[in-house]
Amino acid sequence: RELEEFLKLRDFVLSYPDYEQCRREFKWPHLTKFNWALDYFDFIASNNNDTALLFVDDDGKEIWASYDFLRKRSNQVANFLKEIGLQKRDRVMVMMENSVSLFEILLGIMKAGGVIIPAATMLPAEDVAERIETANIKFVFVDGDIVPKLSKIEVIANKYLNAVVNVGNHSNSVFNNSKGKSPIWINYIEVDNFKEEYSPSFITYSTDEMYSFFTSGTTAKPKLVTHNHNYPVGHLTTLYWVGCTRGDIHYNISAPGWAKHAWSSVFVPWNAQATAFIYKYKGRFNPKNILSKIEKYKITTLCAPLSVWKLFLIENLKSYKFSLREIVSAGEPLNPEVIKKVKEYINLNLREGYGQTESTLMIGNFKGEHTKKGSMGKAAPGYNLSILSNQLDLKNEGEDGQIGVNIYPIKPLGILNAYNDSAKNESVFKGGYYLSGDTAYVDKDGYFYFVGRTDDVFKSLDYRISPFEVESEIMEHHAVLEVAVVPTTDEREMIVPKAFIVLKPDYIPSREMALELFRFIRKHIAPYKRPRFIEFLDSFPKTVSAKIIRKDLREYDQKIKKKKIKA
Ligand code: ATP
Ligand code: MG
Repeated sequence: RELEEFLKLRDFVLSYPDYEQCRREFKWPHLTKFNWALDYFDFIASNNNDTALLFVDDDGKEIWASYDFLRKRSNQVANFLKEIGLQKRDRVMVMMENSVSLFEILLGIMKAGGVIIPAATMLPAEDVAERIETANIKFVFVDGDIVPKLSKIEVIANKYLNAVVNVGNHSNSVFNNSKGKSPIWINYIEVDNFKEEYSPSFITYSTDEMYSFFTSGTTAKPKLVTHNHNYPVGHLTTLYWVGCTRGDIHYNISAPGWAKHAWSSVFVPWNAQATAFIYKYKGRFNPKNILSKIEKYKITTLCAPLSVWKLFLIENLKSYKFSLREIVSAGEPLNPEVIKKVKEYINLNLREGYGQTESTLMIGNFKGEHTKKGSMGKAAPGYNLSILSNQLDLKNEGEDGQIGVNIYPIKPLGILNAYNDSAKNESVFKGGYYLSGDTAYVDKDGYFYFVGRTDDVFKSLDYRISPFEVESEIMEHHAVLEVAVVPTTDEREMIVPKAFIVLKPDYIPSREMALELFRFIRKHIAPYKRPRFIEFLDSFPKTVSAKIIRKDLREYDQKIKKKKIKA
């Protein structure tokens, strides 16, 4: 019954009804016993030789992994996990770059009843230790070349971990057996010895924890967000937004280690029965290489963060012959200038989406829908959103307030289970809402406009300043690559906006450049919102998921102020 219900909703979404119809008829299924990997993935994958995953790298390696291949491989992983003692609900940290193994491991953990907790490979050792402790991790899958990093966290590893699985060539433990229980150290190659058929010895309920993430850490220390087996079902809203369908080759530019990877590298393509495309590159992000892969492998649907689109726009986009049909971006507010340029260069509408680690796609510009400049779109099917005051009263059209998700009578399936912090849970689940922490307003046609994270929005001379709005204006200047607007104080100690700016590679910071930007600002921005200060930086402080950490810019600004006063 559960599978039928899930497939019914999935097929409805995949028929891409128009937005109004989709919102009207979209009903979350009530699933009691459901394991997405066992019940759904295996169902579509059995004897299916379509490509589920296309992996390419810089050494010319090309792997076309079929659905059936991944079904069998993940069964081997599940059998292996059972053998090494994984119990239902045990948390497993996966600290790996994109590879075919990564995807069979993710499926295998789901099948074995474990909880996936991804971690970015560039995470410093101390953070890894802290996360193992905070989340009570029992097992770790780690890429071979990150193994040496683990030697620094021996004490925590000995205390918490049962086993470390090394997905690489080094097979020796980096832990001493001197203290604690010392986890067993296993080479991933062992998985080859296990059977390709798997049957679980337990029932998975949809409310069992499945996939949990640490947030990006843009505003504060990363928080652990837990999701259950309803989560992949919740991602049908993400699928509807991306517009991916069977036969598509979907490329999501995102490193594993954060929620966006689960959103758009796992659940979107596989709920659509499409092909997920993975490109593992050496060294630094190189837009030219990425663009030529998009061309060569005939990518049809593409999801990339704003920072990537900005880099693409510096390239000669018109010179590529793309097969792209749908292009989307989520995770940060999308400046209208970027959308305009993309349209000009490749004649496609770059559609924005809004969501969080705590949710699936909540707001978006959906396929075929009219878009409005500066708006992130309309509420996703299955999500009932309200704009709220601090007292949780409904705001009027056009008035700023916090985005709240109505969770009564039905909580959208993509909304988090909980944080691992009861005070935080109490502060976000209130009055029948999940409170997002983001400020926005909505117009009479139901279009949402992002104003800022509730913590980033500030007042200057009693006017509300939306950093995003001011940044979008400044982005229209041809020399600007990135900009972040934060509050600072002027000589009278009044709060005023300040713009931190990173210039495009061909421009050099100078007094003349600053004056030119001030002239541009005077021309385009209302007096009360105009940044009074400009400071050029070589780059911005960013999270692992490439978001600008405004908090760090504010702190840095305070510091240099204090220094100046002292001087
Ligand atoms: P942390 O919660 O640790 O501070 P984070 O909020 O950046 O980090 P994520 O869950 O990755 O972690 O990001 C979600 C946030 O990103 C949203 O709450 C919102 O502020 C921002 N965001 C996502 N999509 C958009 C969008 N389309 N427009 C504006 N902001 C967006
Ligand atoms: Mg957040």
